Amino acid sequence: MNMVHGIPVSSGIAIGKAFVQATEGFRIPKQFIDAGALEAEVARFLHAVDLAQHEIAMNRDSTRVALGQTFADIFEAQLQILLDPKLQSDISALIRSNSFSAEHAVTVVMGRHTDTLQKIKNSYIAEKVNDIRDIEKRLLRHLLGVDKETLAVLKAPVILLATNLTPSETANLDKRFVQAIVTESGGPGGHTAILAAALEIPCVVGTGPFLANVDGGDMLIVDGNSGHVYVRPGKETLDQYHRLKEADSTRIESLDSFKTLEAVTKDGTRIDVHANIEFPFEADNALLYGADGVGLFRTEFLYLTRKTDPTEDEHFHAYKQVIETMGDKPVVIRTFDFGDDKASGRHNSAVEHNPALGLRGIRLALRRWNLFRIQLRAILRASVYGDLRIMFPLISTVKEFRQAKRTALREVMDELHDEQIPFNAQLKVGMMVEVPSAAIMLDKFAEDADFFSIGTNDLIQYTMAVDRGNSNVNELFSAEDPAPLRLIRRIVSVSDSRKVPVSLCGQMGGTPHSVVLLLGLGLRSVSCSPRSIPKVKQICRYITVADCQAIARKALRMSNAKDIRDYVKNKLKYLAPELYGEDM
Ligand code: PEP
Ligand code: MG
Repeated sequence: MNMVHGIPVSSGIAIGKAFVQATEGFRIPKQFIDAGALEAEVARFLHAVDLAQHEIAMNRDSTRVALGQTFADIFEAQLQILLDPKLQSDISALIRSNSFSAEHAVTVVMGRHTDTLQKIKNSYIAEKVNDIRDIEKRLLRHLLGVDKETLAVLKAPVILLATNLTPSETANLDKRFVQAIVTESGGPGGHTAILAAALEIPCVVGTGPFLANVDGGDMLIVDGNSGHVYVRPGKETLDQYHRLKEADSTRIESLDSFKTLEAVTKDGTRIDVHANIEFPFEADNALLYGADGVGLFRTEFLYLTRKTDPTEDEHFHAYKQVIETMGDKPVVIRTFDFGDDKASGRHNSAVEHNPALGLRGIRLALRRWNLFRIQLRAILRASVYGDLRIMFPLISTVKEFRQAKRTALREVMDELHDEQIPFNAQLKVGMMVEVPSAAIMLDKFAEDADFFSIGTNDLIQYTMAVDRGNSNVNELFSAEDPAPLRLIRRIVSVSDSRKVPVSLCGQMGGTPHSVVLLLGLGLRSVSCSPRSIPKVKQICRYITVADCQAIARKALRMSNAKDIRDYVKNKLKYLAPELYGEDM
């Protein structure tokens, strides 16, 4: 048995069979060949080598003509790897000795090579890893005789293992067949993590390289609470996890009673707990888990799950569905926030070396008027069906917010007015506070904004200069770091003094021990994934605001995230002993 450890980003325990999404999206299940057909299988492999060789040589020659010898050398180097007698004999030997199919033998041998090389931190070696993957992809394509096989082929429940999954791949997964997800890369704030939680699929990211040691069909245990992943577990571990899985379900059921209760602290302060959603169907979950409203509808996922952009009517129906489901409860629709790890080449064709700092959020919307206008029209049209509010993402300057609110939205309002299409002209217009510049200039924004929502996922990323989706720097991405906590305190105090309502919709709002800090910093409203709502209500009902304030005061005097985390959890051990040790 092997055990790897990653970052737990969506809770729950899964026990099932591995489905390995190979580097290029091919599915290479463990397949065996009859003893009599082994030589034919080796010949099939060697034929694929010939075809790949021919292709690479053609690439080399055309690159030489177009770009010169230096670039042609890239393909020359690939040819040397492909034609390395040792590589070929290793793969042939595996077919003969283990009766593996050629595809599986290629994946195993080349996977081992990349696995070994990946451990060496050196940019030259990193390039070699890419070369090997390129060759592997080529060989597999010739062997399979098909184009890239997508995850849409899943037809039975599996645990999905991948080097990385893009947000669109995750958004398009068929939840019925994915028991859990494990990725070698990725960080806690990435959108793949957020989506897995939205889909309620247990998920562990950032394990580092381990896929080379797993075969399709291997038995796995994924613990989305602790981040442990067991490959081919022994009977004892399996039995233990069957018991843990049962206990986990009982614990989740015990939270059921909190769905219908209000989040009122022991000293009588009512906390608003809203839901973050990515898909319209989640409005049902929001209600089911007891949300006071939808605090964040990430509308970019309406685009990511399809090949063409939604029409104005499609937007309109999605928003109307959410508003009608929520009845008289408020719904905050955030205009699309492409970019960063939700990069969509369809909407931003610019080549950006640093997309998190590039054309994303409101920056992109203001430049893509056709796209933005359609969405604004749909939101305004839907605004007559309930308490709908609009929110703009990634605002970094007052000018941007004014352009979005006073120019863009106003123009669309005028248009609808001329067309005699009804809308709510008093619609509340707010902004995400997720860029440090906005937090610093908040008093100025307070002149225009009807409400603020703190986006801690990005606020931590930009305050700490740490990519929220990068497992290499994940230790720096912490909701307990005193720097973002100080910023949150500032945001809440400016909002209060300017009488602008403020909430928080980053992942932090769904973590019980973080909620204690947030209440202590003065927040009275949070928005989190529907599934986290009962936990948040539960912690609110176990504590007093006075305790939270004392905890936050002391935490803010500390200088590092670990001390703060340990301190808060220790305090909770005394204040809410019944909850200690749970998913805090
Ligand atoms: C955030 O940044 O905290 C946030 C809620 O927005 P997103 O995660 O979609 O960037
Ligand atoms: Mg954000």
